[in-house]
Amino acid sequence: MDGQVAARMDETAVGIADPAARISVLLAAQKAAWSTDVTPSHAVRDGRLDRLDRMVVAWESRFAAAISEDFGNRPAVVTTLTDIVPVRAAIRHARRELKRWMRPRRVSLAWTGKPASAQILRQPLGVVGIVAPWNYPLNLMLSPLVGALAAGNRALLKPSELTPAFSEVLAKAVAETFAEDEVAVVTGGPEVATAFTAAPFDHLIFTGSTAVGRKVAEAAARNLTPVTLELGGKSPVILDPSVDLGKAVPRLVWGKLLNSGQTCVAPDYALVPRGRVPDFLAAVKAEVAEQYPGLPGNADYTTIISPRHFDRLVRLVEEARERDAEVVELAGPHDPERRVFSPVAVVGAPDDTGVMAEEIFGPILPVVPYDTLDEAIAYINLRDRPLALYWFGSDKAAEARVLSGTIAGGVTINDTILHLSQDDLPFGGVGASGYGAYHGEAGFLALSKEKPVLRQSVLSGVSLLYPPYGRLATWMLKLLGRLG
Ligand code: NAD
Repeated sequence: MDGQVAARMDETAVGIADPAARISVLLAAQKAAWSTDVTPSHAVRDGRLDRLDRMVVAWESRFAAAISEDFGNRPAVVTTLTDIVPVRAAIRHARRELKRWMRPRRVSLAWTGKPASAQILRQPLGVVGIVAPWNYPLNLMLSPLVGALAAGNRALLKPSELTPAFSEVLAKAVAETFAEDEVAVVTGGPEVATAFTAAPFDHLIFTGSTAVGRKVAEAAARNLTPVTLELGGKSPVILDPSVDLGKAVPRLVWGKLLNSGQTCVAPDYALVPRGRVPDFLAAVKAEVAEQYPGLPGNADYTTIISPRHFDRLVRLVEEARERDAEVVELAGPHDPERRVFSPVAVVGAPDDTGVMAEEIFGPILPVVPYDTLDEAIAYINLRDRPLALYWFGSDKAAEARVLSGTIAGGVTINDTILHLSQDDLPFGGVGASGYGAYHGEAGFLALSKEKPVLRQSVLSGVSLLYPPYGRLATWMLKLLGRLG
């Protein structure tokens, strides 16, 4: 055990104001508690998941109100749909599958290993640190926690400084539900986050931007702490020439404007067959009016998290306009005071403008006209590997070419976002959009050690290879070389 951690094992974090000291005391307490029950029983894990579920139910309206306060306006329906329901579904799924996930796996041995037997035990790693962003603050904190608790770990949680009201409610809810040495919350800004990710956890799950993800990976490497990095990036949509715009556009607009585009797997930009661009833009505009009539005064529309984020979106559009892109207002004007950013499409922005080079994370939809499918695929493959990819169409051969010709964290065909709503599908990025995965059994495995165990038989023949090496050993080795 880390020396500093061992020194603080007997302290309690109650009343410690300094975040770095709090982290170190909590981590020590959790490591100490873990060492007294290294592999908790099914009943213990199930009990923790049950408590987590009850906590989410009991605190649901307070979570929704706090998140809305942090955003300015975030409809309770959106929080229920994107934070509460997925977390409860993940808990239910884990509780249903937990016995099966925990079961040791029997492994059949090669003849050279017989008559020994072997199995793989799935054990917790210890204490997991979870760092979450602000955009789905409950979901992105508690979904990884479901995997951590199911796998038998303890956990420290660090929510984003951009959701202070939510963080306070979460800290209270967790303190009321769990002992400090089971699950605890540490709040604070980037400095606290830096101290948190430099602590010697047994595993870190970081969800956030690619730039910060790099720093987290570096900090964790110093402790040889393994990391799951759930990052962002530009997730493309390809509209195939075979697309039915009447079916595709409502699904695309829903995914793009959910939480006002502040979604890691939001469709970032659309690749549209050149001749269909005018029809596409008209359909998108009509659909925005259908889903969010009366913008900017529509209460179903989430506001932008902070003035800094709002101003960045304004600048992205202005830069594209100055660089001769076509800017298409898709609804009424913005309302800067309330941070309502009405949706905008941008057509033909140069590659080096912000809208084409950065993850948008807002309700701006760049449109990239293309002529051939090869060109669309090449466009995607020349850029960072995306977290998600969406394809709309009915041409099965084209669908197969896109699936085999591109790499992405996950894919939804003929819709958006939904692949991450299924607990049996691993969720994670690739390349610049992250590494590792969680959700369901993938989350359980990411936070478990699969420990191989070989149990020798009384009848072992390995002694035939012991020194001194004579003719028998040479003959045995020849046999092994040929048949082993
Ligand atoms: P961010 O990277 O700015 O912050 C995320 C977390 O990192 C926060 O809790 C913050 O306090 C912490 N942090 C800040 N500086 C740190 C440092 N130096 N060391 C350690 N931690 C630090 O991201 P954000 O703005 O909160 O979220 C938006 C980004 O997150 C987008 O890029 C989005 O795509 C991505 N995201 C990814 C997923 C996913 O599941 N892959 C989900 C949601 C958001």
